[in-house]
Amino acid sequence: MLIDYHLHSQFSCDSHTNMDAICQAALKAGLTEIAFTDHMDLTWPHQYENHYVHDLDNYIHTIAIFQEKYAGRLTIRAGLEIGLEKHRLSEYEKILKKHPLDFVIGSVHEIGGVAVSQKAFFQGKTKVQVYRQYYSTMLDCIRQFDNFDVVGHLDYCKRYAPFAYEPGDHLIAMDLITEILNELIKRGKGIEVNTSGYRHSSAMCLPHFDILRHYRQLGGTRITIGSDSHRTEHVGYKAAETANVLKALGYTRISTFAQRREVPVEI
Ligand SMILES: [Zn+2]
Ligand SMILES: [Zn+2]
Repeated sequence: MLIDYHLHSQFSCDSHTNMDAICQAALKAGLTEIAFTDHMDLTWPHQYENHYVHDLDNYIHTIAIFQEKYAGRLTIRAGLEIGLEKHRLSEYEKILKKHPLDFVIGSVHEIGGVAVSQKAFFQGKTKVQVYRQYYSTMLDCIRQFDNFDVVGHLDYCKRYAPFAYEPGDHLIAMDLITEILNELIKRGKGIEVNTSGYRHSSAMCLPHFDILRHYRQLGGTRITIGSDSHRTEHVGYKAAETANVLKALGYTRISTFAQRREVPVEI
């Protein structure tokens, strides 16, 4: 079973791809199940305010149209990628309580009002400081907030870092990563394998294989696969290859979600 559980459409501030085209691309890629996970970042970026998924009713209604159109050919889930922000967690809580979603990814995209994708975030910091700040923030957020199913692109801080990527970078904050993984396992939360990393300088999925192995060794079982696609050509990107990587790492199943409940499927 091939899935893509991280897809952005025109409901995201940084994508113009329409949902129908994504569904077509998913079928072409041989996927049987997808989840739309458009962005909701309450603080950032301000200039895109009108393109947020702030109208969740309209978003969910639009997904329902495609669920009906593709019934029997493609299972489509209504998901959301929320940007975990320490000072706005209660607002997310209120929003999510009101809307019937299937799946929620919790990602750290900004810290202190500055996006981790912006140069300003890295100014005056060493690589070690960046990594430790990133993981400390994530740990704080997941300790205070429970309304998500998987953590998105766990080692995202390496994606936009101006430092040269080195193979051992993921070990910089392994103590914090271990705390995050233990916290997730304790709370019945999962992680995703985000294949966008193959398209960036690390040439490796997010998170690194060592972190995926570590999560399993600690007892973690909930894991989704997502391309983080913003364009049709990336829908299902390396989904089959990633399933094989997970098998090689000892996983026997991946997670899908319906109405916020995990539905594990054999790899
Ligand atoms: Zn993200
Ligand atoms: Zn994303």
